[in-house]
Formats: sequence, structure tokens, C-alpha cells
Amino acid sequence: MQCPPFEFAHENYPLAPVTLYNIGGPARVALVPRDAAELETAYAWMIAQDAPRLILGGGSNVLISDDGFPGVVLFTTGLKRFEPLGGHRYYVGSGLDLDWMVQEIMLANNYEGVGGLTGIPGSVGGAIYMNAGTVNGWTCMFMDTVDLVGPEGPRTVEVTQELWGYRGQRFCPPGDAILGGVFHFAPSERNQRAIYAHYIQRRKEKQPQGHCCGSVFKNPEGDHAGRLIESCGLKGTRRGGAIISPMHANFVMNDQDASFDDVFGLIQLMRQTVLDTHGIELEPEVRIIA
Ligand SMILES: Cc1cc2nc3c(=O)[nH]c(=O)nc-3n(C[C@H](O)[C@H](O)[C@H](O)COP(=O)(O)OP(=O)(O)OC[C@H]3O[C@@H](n4cnc5c(N)ncnc54)[C@H](O)[C@@H]3O)c2cc1C
Repeated sequence: MQCPPFEFAHENYPLAPVTLYNIGGPARVALVPRDAAELETAYAWMIAQDAPRLILGGGSNVLISDDGFPGVVLFTTGLKRFEPLGGHRYYVGSGLDLDWMVQEIMLANNYEGVGGLTGIPGSVGGAIYMNAGTVNGWTCMFMDTVDLVGPEGPRTVEVTQELWGYRGQRFCPPGDAILGGVFHFAPSERNQRAIYAHYIQRRKEKQPQGHCCGSVFKNPEGDHAGRLIESCGLKGTRRGGAIISPMHANFVMNDQDASFDDVFGLIQLMRQTVLDTHGIELEPEVRIIA
């Protein structure tokens, strides 16, 4: 595969600096389009290649092999279109930070629902794909429509409640790219800035700071992955430069230049020990790319 002659194409592009884990070798080719038109061109080129492909946003929920990615990585971080549409509706591009949306749209207008999206790193596109959120709410609940690009070209899908659930959605199959979407909000009677400050403070108290992906595993129905891992006595377990956080058992931190194998080894240990001890198979929330 030759690197294409696009201004936004890069060969042997280091991936560690663009992930929150700060782990990962280079992408064979990285495409970093600056708007939706460039992304469509990039996507068409990418799917014509006989090579593996990966879509990436802010890199806050991925663990990438030290060997890197042997194909094409298409970033959506350049898609920063923002447009107020009236009636508390907004077009928000995939490349804007989720926290930007929370601060500049939701807090700026005191819209309801800030509690669910406070303190989540990454892009709007990644948040839509993952239906990122907390017990207080999720990204997709604020959406009317989403714009996607797939092998058949661009399309717009209406986002209805049946199409999303806990940490996932069914409107964007793996491999399609989310360009952005129309969000709707409602004015709140409560002070959303106070709610934002409350949840930022809570994260500071309950979650470790540093290189990580947030929660490694999804919570199984009716339980908490962190509680299960902690009950197995795994908090503080170290492998090389990685550690299961002594503060929150569902977080694996890269605190000393960890390798992919260091982190992945701990993830496997957590999964196996919980299975052996509780008979529960934890499902990773982090996307492992190896
Ligand atoms: C400290 C910390 C705290 C966190 N807390 C939470 C939390 O409370 N709740 C929560 O839900 N998550 C949380 N996360 C996880 C993560 O921040 C979210 O999943 C986030 O929404 C991922 O967005 P991203 O842009 O970084 O996606 P990436 O990590 O780049 O990608 C994640 C997945 O989405 C896909 N993807 C990304 N962008 C697009 C796009 N434009 N089109 C199609 N597919 C795309 C990728 O292929 C990949 O499968 C936390 C992470 C950290 C590090």
C-alpha cells in the first residue's frame, strides 16, 4: 500500500501520543481529514485498499499494540463543524471534544443533563459510537439524527431510543465513520454549573488521574466490574509499567512507561480471576487493537 497524495495523509504515524494510554506503535498510514468532504475522500480511498482499517476519535478508549497498526487509521478529530439550528438544536461535528459540547452548549445555556456527560474525555464522534455516559445519562439520548459514511457513501440516520443502550448503539456498524449529528437539549430549572462542578469533584475523589482508558470492563447486569475485581484482591497488582489502580479496581493505569503487554496482561488477569472466583465473564469496554 502506497501512502496517498493527500495533504492530510501521513506514513508511519505514531499512535501512542494520540491515545490517552500513551501506548501503541505507528499506523502504516494515518488520514487526518480536516472536514467532512475530505473525510469522504479519505474513506473512499481507505476502503479501496486491501489493508486493515480503523476509525479513531480522541483515543480515550483504545489500547493499541506496540507493533502499531498495519493498515489505515482514519481520524475524525478534524471534523469540527458547529451550527446552532434554533429551537435548542445544534449540529455538532465528530471532531469536537465532548467536554467542549458540555461546556460551550449545555452549560452556556443551562441545558438539562450535564451530569451524565461531565468529565468524559474524547471526541463527540467517539461518545456517539460508544454512547458514552454514566448512570445519569448518555450521549445518544440527546440526538435527533447522525451523519455517517460507509462503503455505500454518506447517509443520515434518525436516532431513536431502540437504537442505543448501555455503552453502545446499533446505527453505526463497526467500520463506518460518524461525521456528526443533530443534538437537542432542554432548558433546565436546576443550576447545571453546580452539577458539573459536583461531578468533576467526585471524579477527582474516586478516579485515579493519569494515562488510562477509564473503566476497562463494562458493568455486568446488576453488579459493578470494579467491585468484582476488588473482591478478588487485585487492587494494586502490578505488571511492568502498569498497575491495577489501588483507588479504583476497574482502572488499569500506565504509570511507568507500560507496554501493551503490561496492560493487556493485567486485563487478562482481571478477567480470568473474576471468572474463576465469581463465574462472571467480564466484557471489555476498552477497544483492544492488536
Ligand atoms: C479517565 C477516563 C474516564 C472515562 N469515563 C467514562 C465515563 O464515565 N463514561 C463512558 O462512557 N466512558 C468513559 N471513558 C471512556 C471514553 O472516554 C469514552 O468511551 C469516549 O466517548 C471515547 O471517545 P474517543 O473519541 O476518545 O473514542 P476513541 O477512543 O478514539 O474510539 C473509541 C471507539 O469508538 C470508535 N470511534 C471513535 N470515533 C468514531 C467516529 N467518529 N466514527 C465511528 N467510530 C468512532 C473507535 O473505532 C473505537 O471503537 C473514560 C475514559 C477515561 C480515560
